[in-house]
Order: sequence, then structure tokens, then C-alpha cells
Amino acid sequence: MTGRQAIYNIGSDKFHEECGVFGIYGSPDASTRTALGLHALQHRGQEAAGVVSYDGEHFHSHRALGVVGDNFSNRKVIDRLPGTMAIGHVRYSTTGNTVFRNIQPLFADFEFGGLAIAHNGNLTNAYATRKSLVQRGCIFQSTSDTETIIHLIAMSEYSTVVDRTIDALRQVEGAYSLVALTREKLLGMRDPLGIRPLVLGRFGDSYILASETCALDIIGAEFIRDVEPGEIIIIDRKGLRSIKPFGKAPSKFCIFEYIYFARPDSMMEGKNVYTVRKRIGRALAREKPVKADLVVPVPDSGGPAALGYAEESGIPYEMGIIRNHYIGRTFIEPSDHIRHLGVKLKHNANAAYLKGKSVVLIDDSIVRGTTSLKIVEMVRNAGAREIHMRISSPPIKQSCFYGIDTPSSAELLAANMDIDEIASHIGVDSLAYLTFDGLYQAVRGENRNPKQPQFCDACFSGDYPVRLRDRESGPANRQLSLLAEQE
Ligand code: SF4
Repeated sequence: MTGRQAIYNIGSDKFHEECGVFGIYGSPDASTRTALGLHALQHRGQEAAGVVSYDGEHFHSHRALGVVGDNFSNRKVIDRLPGTMAIGHVRYSTTGNTVFRNIQPLFADFEFGGLAIAHNGNLTNAYATRKSLVQRGCIFQSTSDTETIIHLIAMSEYSTVVDRTIDALRQVEGAYSLVALTREKLLGMRDPLGIRPLVLGRFGDSYILASETCALDIIGAEFIRDVEPGEIIIIDRKGLRSIKPFGKAPSKFCIFEYIYFARPDSMMEGKNVYTVRKRIGRALAREKPVKADLVVPVPDSGGPAALGYAEESGIPYEMGIIRNHYIGRTFIEPSDHIRHLGVKLKHNANAAYLKGKSVVLIDDSIVRGTTSLKIVEMVRNAGAREIHMRISSPPIKQSCFYGIDTPSSAELLAANMDIDEIASHIGVDSLAYLTFDGLYQAVRGENRNPKQPQFCDACFSGDYPVRLRDRESGPANRQLSLLAEQE
């Protein structure tokens, strides 16, 4: 990455959000509401967006690289997506590169009619399943793990679309929250452990499925409930039906949704995410107190936890770092020289507040440590006397294989250094992380059960709740197609 072509990935030191899904049934302006819902879910994926609608005769699709606002604010685009049923997807690629053929919703023609599908999550046996499907003659069009589900539905010997889908889902492992559209039905499905979120809402006579409640709020829809782990919701002209074909298993909802991924105004499992993040900050203050003049969040994600820390400790909260919201995730740099300005493109120290002060810096996580290092240097250069960093989660020591884009453990700072080494690496006077029990208490009011954790917390603990079958049988991230992919 040099010279005029250099691309500096501004948000590179966070776990990347996964994907967001949205579906609506029985609305005269289904595609408009879907585009709005996707706009609210934009934080879950900014690389591509797509909508498929059905007008009673034909399916219509628009998929594009880039954010929702750039692709779906044009009336002409929405007019080409008629019908009262639609599904949509925002994407951050976790399996398969971001090339056009991987943009969702995926669509296929079946003997029973068309089916469009959108997926948030990641299948942990996609490679093995795909290999066996290819041996049976299936021809794959994308490198997305979601296409595996489409082929399994096509190959199923059951007759109805619901039975075929159940049959397909019995053969896949991993994390999935799916919405699917047929000529008659909108389907919503959550994997048996409910790792990724999915909620159900209503607007007048129309039903809505979405990754988060903020996508219901934007269209004025009412939240009904979370879709349960292992539940399939079927919506058609007879109304709404729920089936649970996979038996009962304890939920392993991703605890990182509370820490960072979800929008703070969303409700997850009946809890307001902002409130949980503030409680996490309070727990951090009780567990890891420090004498200081100011509590300063690393914006934006450290904000609610920093407020909680300030409330609990009585130390004043100040916006000691200001974030520039008008910069995209990637920034085409004119020269290497500018690129080396690094994190200042996104954050700037509010020096008037930091000079001579002892500061508690609050962030939600440290991944590779590259951003933390630059933020600390910036706060130090602004005149802070002491910098004490407090992290509102335990150290990240493992990668995620359930739909979150994460670096390998070789790149994760906490997998390779102890806390003192990390503190000296990023240049702080002290560093402390929230404990598992502090986190669990803040989220659910009970300690972590070490034998049967109540959430998926594998990136912290290494306790993976779903077998990593593809990884066990060979190197991860194997090339799924012979066709070289162009970004
Ligand atoms: Fe969430 Fe971490 Fe589990 Fe992935 S490994 S699902 S990020 S808790």
C-alpha cells in the first residue's frame, strides 16, 4: 500500500461487526422500509448492501458494494423493488471476499419457486459441507458460506420449503441468524444456540424480522420479542407460526454484542445495550479503581462504559478525545506522509482538558493494540500527566469463528503478552481489564458459570460452544473457489 493507491483502514483495530439482516412481510412499501432498516443496521456491515423484494409475480433484486445511503436513497432504485415482501442485508465479509457475487441476499430458482436468503453469522462446517456438495454435482456461484444452505435446500428430498430448510439447517453447524423470502413466505431462523441476534416486530399488519431493535425503531415498528435460539418463524397469509425443530439447548448468545457490536439504543434479550454498557463501566470502576482527575472515553465505543465508570468512581467525565465522524472506514491517502498521520484522521486530543491531568482512559477492547498505542501517544502529547487505561472486557486471546472478522491469535496482543507487557507496549502508567465475573454480573446479575458459561465468550475464554469442524480438519480460511477474487 504505497503512494496514491494507499488505502488506510481507519477502523482496523477493532473486531469488525458481522452482518445485519432485515425482512418485512405485508407492507405496501416493503423495499423502502427494508432500506431504512438496513440504514439503522449499517454499523453491522459497511462493505455491501442488498435488497430482494417479491411483487406476487417476480422477485426483484438490487445489490451493491458500499453503504446503504449511497445505494438505496435513489427513488428509482426503490421503484425497481416493488412488492409487499422484502429482505435485505448489510455485509462485512467474514467468509468469502467482498466481491459482487458474494453480496447478499443470495437468490436461487428452485422447482418450488425462487428463494432469497440473507445470513448473519458463520458456518463452522461450510468447507466440509461444500466439498461434499461439489462431489455430488452442485455448482457454486459464490464463495459465501450461505450458499451452502441454498444447495442443501435444493438437494433436500422433502417437499415443502419449510421442511427442506429444516433439513438443510440440520446439516450445518455454527452461528446463523437468517431471513429468507419465498413467493409466499418470510422466514426467520436462529441457530440452536442463538449466537447471533434476531428480533421480531410488527408495524400495523406487517411483520418484521431484524438483527436489532434499532431497525424496528427507524420505521416506527413495535418490538414483539427476540426470536428464540433454534426457532424458525414462518410468516405468510395465514399469519405467524413458530416452530422449534432442533430441540432445546442452553443459549450461547454472543456477549460481545453487549460490549461493542450492537447499537447502544438496541434491546438485546430484553436489556438495553446502553444500560448494560454503563453497568459494565460501573463494575470496572469497582474492580479496577484508580485515583485520577478525569475519566475519558475512547470514542465512540468507550462512551457508555466511561460514563458508568465516572458515575461509580465520582471522577468527572470529560470528552478528552474527539472523534471525526465524517471519515469513512477507509480513506484513500494522497501520500505515505499523510498516511503516517495515522489515527489523528479519526481522533484528536482535546488538549485544553488533558494538560497536566491524570486520566483514566476507557476503551471496550484491545485487539492488536495499534490504535491504543496511537491514542495513548496522542493523549500524552496533549500534556496528560498520567494515563491509566481500563478495558471494559476481559483480554481478547482467541479468534471468533462465528461471524466476526478477527485477526489470528498471532496478531492478538493479549494472546502474546501479559498485562504488564501490554501496558508498557502501549505506553500507559497502568492497565487493567474487567474480569469475567464483573462482565457477567453487569450483563446478567450472576457470576460466570465456568462449567457451562451462560454466553459465548470464546474470544476471551477459548470455550467455543460450537465445534470448529473445518478448523479441526485443516487450515482455516481455505480458498473456496478456483476463481481468483478481485476486490
Ligand atoms: Fe461473540 Fe467472541 Fe463468541 Fe465471537 S467468539 S460469538 S465475538 S463472544
